[in-house]
Amino acid sequence: MKLDGVRVAVVGMARSGIAAVELLIDKGASVIAVDAKPVRDERLERMGVRVLPQNDAAFEGVDLIVLSPGVPADAKEVDAARRRGVRVVGDLELASWFLQGETIGITGSNGKTTTTALTGHILKSSGVAAQVGGNIGTPPATMVATSKAGQWNVLELSSFQLETIESFRAHIGAALNVTPDHLDRHYTFERYEAAKARLFENQRAGDFAVLNADDPHTREYGEIVIDEPYWFSSTHEVPRGAWLRGETLMLDARPLMEAREVPLRGVHNLENTMASAIAARLAGATHGQIREAVMRFPGVEHRLEFVRELNGVAWYNDSKATNVDATLKAIAAFPGGLWVILGGKDKDADYAPLAEPLRNKARAALLIGAAAAKIENQLRDAAPVVRSRTLDAAVREAYSRARVGDTVLLAPACASFDQFENFEHRGREFKRLVNALGAER
Ligand code: ADP
Repeated sequence: MKLDGVRVAVVGMARSGIAAVELLIDKGASVIAVDAKPVRDERLERMGVRVLPQNDAAFEGVDLIVLSPGVPADAKEVDAARRRGVRVVGDLELASWFLQGETIGITGSNGKTTTTALTGHILKSSGVAAQVGGNIGTPPATMVATSKAGQWNVLELSSFQLETIESFRAHIGAALNVTPDHLDRHYTFERYEAAKARLFENQRAGDFAVLNADDPHTREYGEIVIDEPYWFSSTHEVPRGAWLRGETLMLDARPLMEAREVPLRGVHNLENTMASAIAARLAGATHGQIREAVMRFPGVEHRLEFVRELNGVAWYNDSKATNVDATLKAIAAFPGGLWVILGGKDKDADYAPLAEPLRNKARAALLIGAAAAKIENQLRDAAPVVRSRTLDAAVREAYSRARVGDTVLLAPACASFDQFENFEHRGREFKRLVNALGAER
């Protein structure tokens, strides 16, 4: 792809946008940066790149627009430019023009980060060259410089990144599940599902699709992929791929490992493990190497992360449970005796599916943040509800009431932006509060 002298506007100056600017400058493009908010960034200043406000004037005379994943693909000014014939792509598409080596792309509503990190971990532990990035950590544009033939690019891909591809192709594409999320940006579930399905649209003969056989939406992707997919299932045997036979994970019709050897809690993490195992196997790792690596996987922060045990009560941080399905999976990973901290910024979610599991397993739901009233309305018949308002108060409440054998679980089913900078901030704050408990006694 020749970009010498091409005039490009990059929209959204967070990490991915700045990485796109750096790549474009390196490829000889003439770049302007655009952001809805005022931005000051040293790297942009050093590169001599101006930051313009996001309006029609910013896109005048531009040949190509590159969107960061955080920018809606139908933003008014972007749409206007598109109608004038300007080409609009996302940062993933841009990076794919230059990435060397083959790609494993992993998408889904939940489990992307865990599965991407685990796949990268297995490959590296098995001596298969790989670098990990995408929606997790390093932006795709930054991975270009370190990419090389014979080395895998393991990419976590969001619906926003996939929505704006043209030619991006994953040699191995994995779709974990599709449950309602981000409907504020995609408007309808069908459009969200279609954005994720784009992972498979450029695949060719000889490429591989790895799909969840237990999810009706990813099962439908089986119709659009070129070759017979590799399936994974925690409920039934699959024609090829991985499945859970009793307590044994099967891969390619051979036992891979026992479920209890997987260090992550919950059936959903067995599903992530199976998806990673299939991808890693296709990329060259052996059964033995995969098992060894999975057993040593440390897990990912804020994903059902064990914080501590205090006075016989276990505390878990699942701050990344920012939607209802993730919270359902978190609750399912425990036998009962739960104090569940719920709430935050609502994403137009329906919390009713939480009623049954809360009724069966929760001592109480401790509600925090802006969504508390809505959640209370939907769930108050299912379990005792405490309006804690703040995370601090919720932690104190749980600390004073939980008994030996109970578990306190932060799995809020909401975004964090009402009270925190992001889910990481919320999770760190939770861990700080929990680790401070008991010291005062
Ligand atoms: P993503 O990157 O897709 O957000 P993460 O691995 O960060 O995925 O996990 C997000 C949340 O979903 C966490 O709360 C985690 O415990 C939960 N989760 C992880 N894997 C799955 C899965 N396969 N299905 C449902 N929930 C999951």
